[in-house]
Amino acid sequence: MAYQDKTIVCNDCAVDFTFTAGEQEFYAEKGFDNEPKKCKECRQKAKKNFSKPSNSSSRPARPPFNRNSR
Ligand SMILES: [Zn+2]
Repeated sequence: MAYQDKTIVCNDCAVDFTFTAGEQEFYAEKGFDNEPKKCKECRQKAKKNFSKPSNSSSRPARPPFNRNSR
């Protein structure tokens, strides 16, 4: 079965984002039934600073990479 890229509108910022075929496969593998409702940015934002007010004008000095894997 082949997956196809899919465009979803983010629940948070109302921006179109792509639910890629690879991601759909990943979701299916994990047994997730639901499609993502938020774009990646919003999901990362929600993870990182859920207590901060949404302010997209100030960018962090360092890119938000997780360097925990080894
Ligand atoms: Zn979003």
